[in-house]
Order: sequence, then C-alpha cells, then structure tokens
Amino acid sequence: MKKVLVLGAGQLARMMALASKPLNIDVRAYDVGSDKVVDPLVNSLVYGDLNDGIEFSDVITAEFEHISHDVLATCEASGKLFPSSQAIKTGGDRRLEKALLEAADVANAPHKIIHTKADFDEALASLSLPLILKSALAGYDGKGQWRLKDLNDSDAIWADIQSFFDGAQGAERQGVIAEQMIPFDREVSLVGVRNKQGDTFAYPLTENHHSNGVLSVSLAVNEKQELQAQASEAFDRIAGALNYVGVLAIEFFQVGDKLLVNEIAPRVHNSGHWTQQGSDTCQFENHIRAVADLPLGSTHLIRPSAMINILGPDHVDDAVFNVPSVAMHWYGKTKRPGRKMGHINVCGDTKPQLLERLNELANLLPENDFPEVAQYIRQLK
Ligand code: ATP
Ligand code: MG
Ligand code: MG
Repeated sequence: MKKVLVLGAGQLARMMALASKPLNIDVRAYDVGSDKVVDPLVNSLVYGDLNDGIEFSDVITAEFEHISHDVLATCEASGKLFPSSQAIKTGGDRRLEKALLEAADVANAPHKIIHTKADFDEALASLSLPLILKSALAGYDGKGQWRLKDLNDSDAIWADIQSFFDGAQGAERQGVIAEQMIPFDREVSLVGVRNKQGDTFAYPLTENHHSNGVLSVSLAVNEKQELQAQASEAFDRIAGALNYVGVLAIEFFQVGDKLLVNEIAPRVHNSGHWTQQGSDTCQFENHIRAVADLPLGSTHLIRPSAMINILGPDHVDDAVFNVPSVAMHWYGKTKRPGRKMGHINVCGDTKPQLLERLNELANLLPENDFPEVAQYIRQLK
C-alpha cells in the first residue's frame, strides 16, 4: 500500500484521502498549525509530528501554498515532495507567480511589483486606473487586496497597505503587486494534471462566480473548442515551466474571446470540485495518481455539472436531496461565519437539465446564507 502525506489538514486533504481509499492508498495530513500528523478523515487521530509523517510516507504533497519554507525544505530533502517546493512557493508569492507567467509567455494583466513608496508612485504613473493592489504573500479569498479607482485615494490606500503590513518582519514580506483592473466578461478556470513523464490532461474549462470575493458557484459545460485550447496551452506552458507534478489550477479573466491568467494554484482547487460527480476521474484522484506515479485518469466531462459552495452554514434544507443527481459533500468542520463548510454538486444530462436542477436548488438555498447565488443561477442561459 502506498502512503501519501499531505501538507495541510483541511478539506482538500480530506477529499484526497476519500479518493485514495479505493486505490488502496493511505493518506495522512500534516496540520501546520499544530505541527501534528493526523488522519484527515478523523482529525483527532494523531500519528506524530512532521518527521514521523515524512518517515511514514512514500510521497509528500500539499493542499495549500502558504507553507513555511523550512517545512518545504525539510520535505524536499527527503526526495518525496511533489510538486516541487519551487512550484508551491510560486503559487504562494505573487511576485514569483508574475515572473513565471512572463517567463512562460502567458498573457496576464499589466502589473508592477511594489516594495517602496517610490515603486508605488511609479506604478500609479505607468499603469492606468483602476488598479487592484494585492499583498504578494498573504492573499487568498480576496483578502489583502485594495482597489484604487481615483488618484485622490492613493495616499489613504498607501497608508492602509502600510498598516496591513504593520508588524510583518522585513521588506521582503511587505511586497505588493499593483495590477490593472481587467474589465472581464467572466472568470473561468482550468484544472489540469501533469505526471512525472510530462504528460498533461486538462478538465473542461469551468465558469466561476464569486460572492464577496469568494468562489460561490462553478459551472462545467463543454466550452468552445478554441477557448479550451487557449487555456490548455497556457496550462502546458506553465506546468512545463515548473516541471510540475500533480494537479494545478489556473484562474483566467475572459475578455472577448481572449484569456488572461489571473493566478495559479499549485494544488487541487475549489473550482474543480464538480469533477467528483462530473468527470471520469475526479481531480483528487488524479492528483494522487500523478504524485504516486500511477497512470493518469481521463478528465472527460461525463455530463454538464456544477458546484455550489456552502460558506458558513452547517446545514441545508434536506429537500435538496430531492433534486436529481445532487451530491452533498460536508467537510466535518466546526461552524464559523463564511467558512468553507461543504459543497453541493449537481449534474444534468444536458445543459438545460442542469440549469433546471440548479434553479430548483436556488429556490432551496436562502439568500442570507448563499448571497448572490440564486441571482447568478437565474440569469444562466
Ligand atoms: P483565491 O486564491 O481565493 O482565488 P485571491 O485572494 O488569491 O483569491 P484573486 O483571485 O487574485 O485573489 O482575486 C480575487 C478576485 O478579485 C478575482 O477572482 C476577481 O474577481 C477580482 N480580481 C482580481 N484581480 C483582478 C484584476 N486584475 N482585474 C479585475 N478583477 C480582479
Ligand atoms: Mg489566490
Ligand atoms: Mg483567485
């Protein structure tokens, strides 16, 4: 039986463990906060510390990119870490990420890297407003971001950025990226997988809707071939440049029929959760297959599929089970406002059937727990 250690003990590690059981692969998770290796399905089962986890495992992988460089170095030294520490760090530092996109020659938003007030002023002079400023190291779910629409606000925003970094050690930790705001038509993402031999498979493009800066709904129907090809090409360039092993997600802005990369995630991704019901092989299994050096599975879309995130509530109306093909995925977490508690997958034989089922769900999910979700679903065509 192969053994995999996942750095991070959240829902992504849990879903990797669930997908691995039938493959006879045993997954344990390293909880960075408590420095304990746990069973991701029974978090209270503790197996030891990081060194015990490294010893236990044949392969080490990660479920998030904000991992201390010491931990990554220790894991890499064992020769078991996939993807590489460099790939994980790149996903966790917007400066490295932008450099990668430039080196791989992949279209992205015009941007500047800022460390000092002089850099900030230069960014204001050379980029056109509105701008979005993002902390280089600390951001996820839209946190650590500022929007600058009017030059009159620039002093106040600079002050805000300084106070965000108050207490952060060293200039290196205080980097910010200034990006031109892209007037996108929509946001899409591509989840793909690459093995050690360099073979890649991509899932169908996914349309993503965010509520309050957090992904709330993903929709996977087969998109136009040309768009899919553009996204797959970006995937191959980025994954190739990183000599990547495992599942990698790329978020894009679509402007007309062009895709610009927003950011990458060196891991399984929330916008790929629909693959649990909608694809031949789900993203969690394919990630495990790639890092464990097993043949990759088909990423074919079985039927149009969607995912609705459950952000905060620990219960939904049992009537959702009446909607055909609904699959519930709870993460077993304690309730906290806005926390990712679970998701609902739903499929249809055709796109109209999927939209019909999504509309049935929208009627069952209250607006205060699922802000903007019904509104987004009702305008889908
Ligand atoms: P996560 O990792 O959870 O996806 P994040 O905190 O890393 O989020 P981004 O994905 O960079 O943040 O940005 C969050 C959202 O803000 C994007 O999904 C998009 O809606 C908007 N956004 C970010 N950058 C831009 C941009 N350059 N132009 C227009 N909108 C943007
Ligand atoms: Mg991000
Ligand atoms: Mg994002």
